[in-house]
Amino acid sequence: IEKQMKTTVVLYPSLGAGHLNPMVELAKVFLRRGVSVIVAVVDSPDAMGRLAIANPDIAFQHLPVPPTGKDDKYSHPIMRTIDVLRAANPALRSFLLELPAPVDALVVDMFCTDAIDVAAELDIPAYFFFTSALADLAIMLHLPYNFPRTASLKDMPEAVLHFPGVPPIRAMDMATTMQDRESDIARARLHQCPRMPEARGFLVNSFDWLEARALEALRRGLCTPGRSTPPVYCIGPLVQPGNTNTGRSWERHACLEWLDTQPNRSVVFLSFGSMGTFSAAQLRETARGLENSGHRFLWVVRYPPEHQQSKSMEPEDLEALVPDGFLERTRERGLVVRNWAPQMEVLRHDAVGAFVTHCGWNSALEAIVSGVPMICWPLYSEQRMNKVHLVEEMRLGVVVEGYEKELVKADQVEAKVRLVMESDEGKKLRERIVMAKEMAADALKEGGSSDVAFGEFLKGLKKKSSAELKT
Ligand code: UDP
Repeated sequence: IEKQMKTTVVLYPSLGAGHLNPMVELAKVFLRRGVSVIVAVVDSPDAMGRLAIANPDIAFQHLPVPPTGKDDKYSHPIMRTIDVLRAANPALRSFLLELPAPVDALVVDMFCTDAIDVAAELDIPAYFFFTSALADLAIMLHLPYNFPRTASLKDMPEAVLHFPGVPPIRAMDMATTMQDRESDIARARLHQCPRMPEARGFLVNSFDWLEARALEALRRGLCTPGRSTPPVYCIGPLVQPGNTNTGRSWERHACLEWLDTQPNRSVVFLSFGSMGTFSAAQLRETARGLENSGHRFLWVVRYPPEHQQSKSMEPEDLEALVPDGFLERTRERGLVVRNWAPQMEVLRHDAVGAFVTHCGWNSALEAIVSGVPMICWPLYSEQRMNKVHLVEEMRLGVVVEGYEKELVKADQVEAKVRLVMESDEGKKLRERIVMAKEMAADALKEGGSSDVAFGEFLKGLKKKSSAELKT
């Protein structure tokens, strides 16, 4: 009986490790609260296997999905995601029906909108786990009300859009998926947005202090005029712990050894998410900016997209991509890492003083919990919106001018590095992000806002479960 009474939730991430990892962090929060979790995974069998070994307390279930048969024909990777997830609905349904006892909630990722149909059919409360900024949720919920109906955003880049609780946003800074209103992807997303309030609530990887205005707007129902906004629970920041769960924690990346030899807060770290790449011209320009700044740097570099290389970058190719003699001249104060660096551990290192980031939300949260000011260089998807939140609302970073143009110039890279590393404004940014770091830690403490929000969410679940038991 004890076992049957235990609250159980199914977590349902979207495709890819980038969605699976945050769900596993969420699973750990449930476990700490004594809730059983099953993570149902549609693809990424390798990542799932690794995570299952590292997290023996979490149950993982692989859901088989029939091939959609049109893998090459998608106009956008998210179109494939939406299609595959829709095709996964029957497998999700059978899996939920075959469980020994009904689960208390289905928590779905922001792209799994179709799964809420399965939850509705089986009478399981469905919640979204939103892994971008709360302000992005406010924008998505409000988008059906103010999305321009006559022209595409890309044709009016300077037009200013207004969303409750969010600074005014230029059309060009809206998500790349929404830029062309005639595109499949914009249509699909516009279809998803008004369905989101069908969920029972939103768990969000953010914290109240960080996004107070967006939270207020959502709570007051300003983002969904005429219909109620489901409750919002900011339960973050949940970030990956760093090396501890890779199973190889004794192997320390060489760049961390290098950071050990650098003075405190002296190094500028440049890293652009799991997919960020730059043209060869931009790599040269960035190299010149870093060199001219005179500051120390740790820079993660990948093949430019025009190289169409899918393999890891080789040292000799790197030589060819940066200005002649650059690596030699900066040998004493710079380290270029090919392809990938252990970002969380780098950001936590005392030697790091600034972070040049593409503004992916996980990267932003990692900068916040490490107290490292950001130089924002948004590239794709919702990153330009995050840049607006980080710079204008939260005041935790500055922007590199020209990010929307073909090339960010070397002197701009130099100027922003100097601003953060040398100026009073940089000092203020650092003080503010150190405050945000403290506020994040407070939010997660027992009795902190994120802890309380999670408790409220669980209370809601349990209330429903016990009401059902009585009937
Ligand atoms: N990351 C990393 N090393 C790298 C690049 C990325 O560890 O060289 C990690 C980073 O710490 C973050 C994630 O990959 O947790 C990227 O997530 P984010 O939301 O910032 O960007 P996305 O990859 O989704 O664009």
